[in-house]
Amino acid sequence: MTAPERDTIAAIATPPGKGGVGIVRISGSDLGPILGALLGRPPRPRHAEFRRFRDAAGRTIDRGIVLYFPAPSSFTGENVLELHGHGGPVVLDILLRRALELGCRLARPGEFSERAYLNGKLDLAQAEAIADLIDSSTEEAARSAQRSLQGEFSAHIHHLQERLVRLRTHVEATIDFSGEDIDLLENAALGHEIGGLLDELDTIDTKAHQGALLREGFTAVIAGRPNAGKSSLLNALSGRDLAIVTEIPGTTRDLLRESLQLGGLPLHVVDTAGLRDSEDPIEREGIRRARDALANADCILLVSDARHAEASDALLADLPETIPLIRIFNKIDLTGVPASLTIDRETTVVHLSARTGEGIDLLRQEIIRRAGYEKGTEGVFSARRRHLDAIQRARAALANAHLYLHTKTAELLAEELHTAQKALGEITGEFTNEDLLSRIFSSFCIGK
Ligand code: GDP
Ligand code: ZN
Repeated sequence: MTAPERDTIAAIATPPGKGGVGIVRISGSDLGPILGALLGRPPRPRHAEFRRFRDAAGRTIDRGIVLYFPAPSSFTGENVLELHGHGGPVVLDILLRRALELGCRLARPGEFSERAYLNGKLDLAQAEAIADLIDSSTEEAARSAQRSLQGEFSAHIHHLQERLVRLRTHVEATIDFSGEDIDLLENAALGHEIGGLLDELDTIDTKAHQGALLREGFTAVIAGRPNAGKSSLLNALSGRDLAIVTEIPGTTRDLLRESLQLGGLPLHVVDTAGLRDSEDPIEREGIRRARDALANADCILLVSDARHAEASDALLADLPETIPLIRIFNKIDLTGVPASLTIDRETTVVHLSARTGEGIDLLRQEIIRRAGYEKGTEGVFSARRRHLDAIQRARAALANAHLYLHTKTAELLAEELHTAQKALGEITGEFTNEDLLSRIFSSFCIGK
């Protein structure tokens, strides 16, 4: 495939700040004039060359390594030039300005990846995996993003799509040919094939869920009365002294967020202001934010002082009902009760001490269970909400198709197969719109 004519874009590809090396990346349909003006003699394709980068007066801006990848064998599929100079913000800025002076346009965030996608070098799920790899907060998350980037996720989706297309062709051919649905729909093989597709979709769904969990993490919000030990619990979970622990009730006025990892699962813990009625406007604002955070939690940790746990019973009525609850009776070092974990219907009760750490591991295990995180699930690939959503829609359409098998309506069945196929196509980017693309790529970092 030859890439259509596009203007030339440039950006600093290395992160802001000082470093040993800084990279300016340029991509476009025609780099000829830029190569000449900047480097003199054009660089040899796909060879590292130590060269001088020149300004308009022929003076040296910097010296460094030049890498030139002519189209189509480059990341974007266009001609790509990389200038590896010294990693200082000012020298890189001069180099970038020189590129702009020579006709480049400053690249938007994610625009190099977007071009790679538009030029067919990557599909959409792979392009998203680049951002996920860069954003990974745990080793497991990075590995799953790498798997998606290498195309494992896309390959699963393509395989499903091929099966769907074959099935649809078969169903549609029968409709056209005979106008008589009965033969087709009594075909047991058809029901079997749809069942097989549903199973395959479920397997992908499980892996994608694990992938989405690794990407987004799990959010636990700590609530409780002042002095119950909320900040101490956050510190105990993170193993660091982050939150301010004091004996004055009402110290934690704003939300404190901390991201840690539990066996590879990114866990976001939010410590809220103590929930109590207050006249202090600042504290009241803290309480309002606390309620917001609670409403958006994946799980709530309600902390009570084990010596007078009944004091927090009143708070129970205030918590959002639909969010899983773990009740924590803290300070067991003061009561002599052993650490324990019990599960009563939807509520988990843990007795622990944030001070001594006794029982903290029980809580960690329970959070992992509640998150549905299965460490070491074979072949997990990174996935996003939009992927899970598309998988769900494909699943629903296939389930409908299965129903139509029994009501003997082949046209409707074919229509559902088409819907499922389109939903899967959204994942890899065969069916997308401008809005979706700009939403995806604008969240990338600049120079990527
Ligand atoms: P918060 O207001 O709910 O955030 O409570 P803090 O974490 O600030 O703790 C309030 C007080 O209880 C502090 O003096 C802590 O040292 C103390 N505390 C917290 N957890 C424990 C515990 O497990 N055992 C004991 N003995 N004291 C604790
Ligand atoms: Zn606190």
